[in-house]
Amino acid sequence: MTQLVAESRTERRADARELRHGAIALRTAAEIEAIARAGSAVAASLEAAERAVRAGAATAAIDAAVREAIAGQGGEAAFLGYPHASGGAAFPSACCVSVGNEVVHGVPGTRVLRAGELVKIDVGVRLDGWCADAAVAVQVPGAEDPALAALVADAWEALHAGISAMQPGARWSDVAARMQRVAVERGHGMVDGWHGHGIGRGVHEAPQAPSLVSAGLRAERDFTLLPGMVLAVEPILVMGARGAVDADGCLEGLVASAGADGWTVALPAGQVAVHVEHTVAVTRSGPRILTCRSAGRRGTAHEHHGGCGPRA
Ligand code: MG
Repeated sequence: MTQLVAESRTERRADARELRHGAIALRTAAEIEAIARAGSAVAASLEAAERAVRAGAATAAIDAAVREAIAGQGGEAAFLGYPHASGGAAFPSACCVSVGNEVVHGVPGTRVLRAGELVKIDVGVRLDGWCADAAVAVQVPGAEDPALAALVADAWEALHAGISAMQPGARWSDVAARMQRVAVERGHGMVDGWHGHGIGRGVHEAPQAPSLVSAGLRAERDFTLLPGMVLAVEPILVMGARGAVDADGCLEGLVASAGADGWTVALPAGQVAVHVEHTVAVTRSGPRILTCRSAGRRGTAHEHHGGCGPRA
C-alpha cells in the first residue's frame, strides 16, 4: 500500500537533493552518464572474470581477477563488505561466483572448477560515488554441454526481451511478463524472492524489480517506468523446471534459500540455475543498457550479449 501511495507523486526532495517518483529516484542525464562509467568498469571486470574461468582453477581466482580489474579502473568493489540482511558476516568478496545449482551470491573460495560446469559471476562497482551491477553466465571451457549453452542463451534472450519493454510509461509487470514468457516457452522455471532493483548511489535501492509476475507484484509492487529510473534487471532461470502460468498471468516461482555460509543461495542438488543481469536506464527514447563496454571489443559472453542497446 505504501508503495502505491508513494509512486503517485513526483517531487524534488530537498533533503536528498534528488528528484524522486515516490520512493524511486529519477536520475538526470549527467547522473546516468556517471552510472554508465561505473557500468563500463563492471563490464571490463566481468571480461577479466571470464578469462579466469578455467578447469582446475579455484573460484577465488575469479575474485582475484575481478579485484584487480576494478582497482585498475579506479573503482571500488561494491559488494565487498556488503552488510548481511540478518546480521551475519558481511560479504567477503569483490564478486559473487555461483556454480551449478547455486543461484546467486556464491562466495568465491577454494572450490575447484570442472570443465562444463555453469558459472555465474556477478560484479558491482562503485565509481565516483555511483554504482552499477551486472552478471554473466559461462561454462567452464573444455567440455561444453549444449543444453547448458541453450539455457544461457535463453537467459540472455529473456533479459533482452524484458529490457526492450522498458519504455517510458510501461508497467514493470509488463517487463517481468516478457522475461517470464521466454523462460516458460523454453521449458524453464524461474526463481522468486531474489529480485532486480533500483541502483544509483547504493547498489540496492527502491524499487524491487522481480523477473516474474507474482500475485504480490500485481497487487502491491507494480510501478510505472519513468525517464530517469535506473534498474538492475536480473532474471534467474532454472533448467527444465517447467512452471504453469495461471489465469492472471502469474507464475509460481521456485524457492531458493541461503546456505550455511549465510550468502550462497542454492537450489536442491541436480538442478541448474542461470542468472544474467544488466543495469538499465529508462530514457525518453527508451531503454539504455549501462553495463556495456565501449564499442570495438568482441569475443566474450558479456560483450556478445551485452551490446549497448537491446538485442535486435
Ligand atoms: Mg543486482
